[in-house]
Amino acid sequence: MTSTEHHIRAPRGTTRTARSWSTEAALRMLQNNLDPEVAERPEDLVVYGGTGKAARNWDCYQAIVRELISLRDDETLLVQSGKPVGVLPTHEWAPRVLIANSNLTGQWATWDEFRRLDELGLMMYGQMTAGSWIYIGTQGILQGTYETFAAIADQRFGGTLAGTLTVSAGLGGMGGAQPLAITLNGGAALLVECDPDRARRRLHNGYLDEVADDLDTAVRAAVTAKHQRRAHSVAVIGNAAEILPELLRRGVEADIVTDQTSAHDPLSYLPIGVTVPEWPHYAAEKPEEFTARARESMAAHVTAMVGYLDAGAEVFDYGNSLRSEAQLGGCERAFDYPGFIPAYLRPLFCQGKGPFRWVALSGDPAYIARTDRAILRLFGDDDHLARWIELAGRKVPFQGLPARICWLGHGERDRAGLLFNDMVASGELQAPIVLGRDHLDCGSVASPHRETEDMADTSDAVADWPLLNALVNTASGATWVSVHQGGGVGMGRSLHAGQVTVADGTPMAARKLQRVLSNDPATGIIRHADAGYSRARDTATEHGLRTPLVP
Ligand code: NAD
Repeated sequence: MTSTEHHIRAPRGTTRTARSWSTEAALRMLQNNLDPEVAERPEDLVVYGGTGKAARNWDCYQAIVRELISLRDDETLLVQSGKPVGVLPTHEWAPRVLIANSNLTGQWATWDEFRRLDELGLMMYGQMTAGSWIYIGTQGILQGTYETFAAIADQRFGGTLAGTLTVSAGLGGMGGAQPLAITLNGGAALLVECDPDRARRRLHNGYLDEVADDLDTAVRAAVTAKHQRRAHSVAVIGNAAEILPELLRRGVEADIVTDQTSAHDPLSYLPIGVTVPEWPHYAAEKPEEFTARARESMAAHVTAMVGYLDAGAEVFDYGNSLRSEAQLGGCERAFDYPGFIPAYLRPLFCQGKGPFRWVALSGDPAYIARTDRAILRLFGDDDHLARWIELAGRKVPFQGLPARICWLGHGERDRAGLLFNDMVASGELQAPIVLGRDHLDCGSVASPHRETEDMADTSDAVADWPLLNALVNTASGATWVSVHQGGGVGMGRSLHAGQVTVADGTPMAARKLQRVLSNDPATGIIRHADAGYSRARDTATEHGLRTPLVP
């Protein structure tokens, strides 16, 4: 089949093809994940993150669509690594879909074993929101990236990035958020991307300001913007493993250095000496040789980042396993710099905060404007949040179904969900809203080199927490729940869970939303309180959460 036969776009409007809005929501969100405006390689069912897919193959996709259309409100569809494997009788409060992606038992959770099974057609890589049908384009990571750079601005640069230069690489589905997040914080940015099409896509959709013709031009533009304290982002086409060492050699004064290439999967990181057109064929034909070369290049890349660390720059890992892969490639100092969660975001997790998001199933952007105003009515006193909503409304282009991301915590998410449900019930919104989140959340991940890096009680690798999170959301009435392995950091390195719940304006949806949107972030507070964080213990006390053995 050709790619044109698979030009997927979620239906808009208030007419359903599925039996209920719960199943229509899952259907539209699956289709939205594969909308060419949203997905990086929709013809291969790849949504983002190198190989993160929405369904195992096109037959599985068609079968999921058929099942969602006929599924009743007392049935649950089981999806195993992107394949619909069964429909079981359940009940109205049960999730309509249960999803498990890319899970292999401990000793077998390796890329080699995954690829063997993938080739046999037995598995797919689900990343996080790709295989759980709640990806909303680059916006989905934008606020997290914005919050990360805002935290750096607060901790180190007097509250703004004006007058600073950030150097990073990777302008893919997630990495493409970097230039806009940096300029929204007032900074200058120099981004390295090896694939010119990816860079042009970010320019086209307004996340990036300029693609330079060569390195000299890029450096001049970025450094000038820094000195003029001007917010400006410029991309240069090249290999980060060559350009980062060159920038260091030239003495380009970077204040912040990070990376968002697809380093979690060595076959998705371009080694030095390989061209973009050669890449897919070479990686498929000689995966072991390609992996060794990619790791060697990553070691050179990280060695330059460590050089910037020694020169006094703020250097951090952005959750893509670059440090682990570089270490395998021989870089002994790869872990000299920290991951972004322990460095900047853990205090938010202790308050149950994380990447909450919602999508207007109607497809009407006016619905998001209305929900933005509703959020400001609820939380307008929070200056930081109000600034984000205002900036997002002005500067963030929608990709696919209109959506908004807004980091909210325990006691906030449920209020937002109930208000949106009321707006649907009253007819102010004539089609339902779906409410979900990234897996990169306070209570839903075990990932020792990312979300749970350097936990106070050394419980980094304990993976009971994301399993409990998925079970809690299933027990609380979420519309679909997923458990994945690998995600943004790669095979064997994380376990994580997701949930999505539909606000269709009914009293039952209100009861489900209240429970899910309280219990889901509560698991994050409990996880961090249990690990000994006083901020999480205080939040648990303030919110009346019962934690039997936590003092
Ligand atoms: P993607 O595959 O869409 O984009 C990666 C980009 O890196 C591509 O455009 C590719 O051309 C480029 N690239 C690869 N090798 C390069 C090299 N040597 N030099 C320059 N450019 C190179 O992936 P994505 O969705 O943008 O995700 C990026 C990484 O972030 C992944 O590893 C993903 O797992 C991880 N991730 C991070 C978070 C987070 O919160 N920070 C969340 C999810 C995923």
